[in-house]
Amino acid sequence: MTTCVFCEIIRGRTPADIVYADDHAVAFLDRSPVFKGHVLVVPVSHVVTLGDLPGEELAPFFAVVQRVSAVMPNALDAHTERSSR
Ligand SMILES: [Zn+2]
Repeated sequence: MTTCVFCEIIRGRTPADIVYADDHAVAFLDRSPVFKGHVLVVPVSHVVTLGDLPGEELAPFFAVVQRVSAVMPNALDAHTERSSR
């Protein structure tokens, strides 16, 4: 089975501060954030790039991306100029 650091987080073998998870995607705080509230959203399916994600997984994955990006600024008090309006 192909694996990577993200798969290890998804399987619970590597600790992470997971903020959301479902059958399609897992979102967690970046260990080396480049800005306050930096969250990574990764697909549950192992892929090297998003271009490798099967077409039927795109919509459910980006639904999670949209949901997480909508709620995390308030949840972490990490407002960008745009999100604080
Ligand atoms: Zn992987």
